[in-house]
Amino acid sequence: MPVCFDIGGTNIRCGWPVALGDVPIAAQCPTPRDSLDEFIDAMASMVAKAPAAQCDFVAISIAGFANPETGALTIANIECLKGVDLATKLEQRVNIPVLVANDADCLALAEAKAGVAQGSGNVLAIVLGTGVGGGIVINGEIVTGYGGISGEWGHGPVVDPTAGGLVEDMGYFQCGCGQKGCLDTVGGARGIENVHQALTGEAIDAETVLERWRAGDEKATKSIEVSAEMVARVLSTFINALGPSCVPVGGGLAHAQDLIAHIDKRVRTMVLSNYEQPLVVPAQHLKNAGLVGASFLRPPESKMRGVA
Ligand SMILES: [Zn+2]
Repeated sequence: MPVCFDIGGTNIRCGWPVALGDVPIAAQCPTPRDSLDEFIDAMASMVAKAPAAQCDFVAISIAGFANPETGALTIANIECLKGVDLATKLEQRVNIPVLVANDADCLALAEAKAGVAQGSGNVLAIVLGTGVGGGIVINGEIVTGYGGISGEWGHGPVVDPTAGGLVEDMGYFQCGCGQKGCLDTVGGARGIENVHQALTGEAIDAETVLERWRAGDEKATKSIEVSAEMVARVLSTFINALGPSCVPVGGGLAHAQDLIAHIDKRVRTMVLSNYEQPLVVPAQHLKNAGLVGASFLRPPESKMRGVA
């Protein structure tokens, strides 16, 4: 069984499965962001403290993408890992196989194996956090994608700045990926803030917009409806392309169950299949998807032989 890690820009968390889909945090430390040596030391010392029965291999969920050919990481917020083949570096240190997977892919795997999408063949997990991300699992396997990218439905200059005629042209917002008009700029928490500011001139956080929406405030209602509409439109295309039987939602906005229900309703009016049950639903593993998803990663036979 694996020692599991969830690596984010703030913390490294470590644990191992005690039951199917149950991976309590056994240790954590602040993420060393500037020194690769310190980073590898921190991980190696946590592996060293794990029970021997968990030390068949290391399974990592990370807020970045590993190139499947070279292992090189693309990662925004941990400077010392940029371009680094983390799996190989750590394998050289701990002498057991190391697997690295994207955190949204781990969310999809957690939900497919032990969450709301259990039993679904095709799973598209979406992340509505600060921005918009996602991961795909088909028949229990993560779809890694060319260059390590798949399920990233939040990028691509596709949004309609009128949200299907709900508002006058809001214009396009600059995305972190370099393009303008990505769903990432209008969905998610930052997106709600962008839309609300464009429509009202008010710079307030997404949580406040949501609270005002719940209280029936007219302006906030428009902002939420516009953001949700743009999310639903893009998501419906992905649902038609992938045919998922469940779309679990992770990230901070997944706690806003009323927002997710609203998006789900709009999506089900737009997709080709007739989904009679809610399709877009809050994920089960909202707090711990990284560790739970990592616990279901399995190394290929060749990797077990090669290192052990
Ligand atoms: Zn983008």
